[in-house]
Amino acid sequence: MRRAMIPFIFVSACLIVLGPEPWRGVAAAQEGPASDTQSRKTAATGVKPKPATSSPSQLIEEIDPDRLTVTIDVSDAPESAEWSQRAKLLVEKWHPLLAAFLAGPDFRPPTHVKLVFKKEMRAPAYASRDVITISAAWIKAHPEDDGMVVHELTHVIQAYRHGAPGWLVEGIADYTRFFLFEPRTLIRVDPERAGYKDGYRTSAKFLAWVASTYDKQLIPKLNKELRSGEYRDDFFRSSTGKDLNALWSEFTKTLPRSRASRKKAAESPRPGSAPG
Ligand SMILES: [Zn+2]
Repeated sequence: MRRAMIPFIFVSACLIVLGPEPWRGVAAAQEGPASDTQSRKTAATGVKPKPATSSPSQLIEEIDPDRLTVTIDVSDAPESAEWSQRAKLLVEKWHPLLAAFLAGPDFRPPTHVKLVFKKEMRAPAYASRDVITISAAWIKAHPEDDGMVVHELTHVIQAYRHGAPGWLVEGIADYTRFFLFEPRTLIRVDPERAGYKDGYRTSAKFLAWVASTYDKQLIPKLNKELRSGEYRDDFFRSSTGKDLNALWSEFTKTLPRSRASRKKAAESPRPGSAPG
């Protein structure tokens, strides 16, 4: 009985840590000392279950049946061994935070994540089910790219079984990366060329703006709709009173214009300035 109750306690505790504005809690957790919840989770990680006893250390093992295990495969790229340990710690720290942020009814995040490092691959990284495959060449050239791991881990936790629009899947993954994990990242969006369906950082910045302007819980709510397969674009109208096109138009007015666009505007005659 006790074992069955604990996952709920963990999730609830994470939600409390995250608070009404989950990204603030997540960002704080990134830089500050691990929370109690986090420490308990980390302490239990990778420990094999044993029969219950009164020993405090074994009690930790008993109360974490959904413990996360992270395994590493560097057989194809042994040079990635050191970096892989860093990625493992990152996954252990961010998995419970992202699982809480992207929670949903009856949702149980995967409890195993595998990190595979490959010598030959085109993309820097990709996620498939609970496996994140990472390019050894990429991390050699970009050893600072921890954010890529958070992006891919988000995909592992999203696991939208009913399918979902790609721009939202990638937009949310870059939202967790650039607004929760690396919140000081400067993202430039060119209002002349970009669209909300571009995905990745453009969609992430747009979603962040809609959330901060209209509903701070927008992204967890959006995730619930995507998880249940009930998402329709009308979600934005019911959440904000405006459809996607109107929101995008409003959003782009907040963006600085590109140099080329400012030059073009300066060169074209202003209304009323033309002779006649
Ligand atoms: Zn992605």
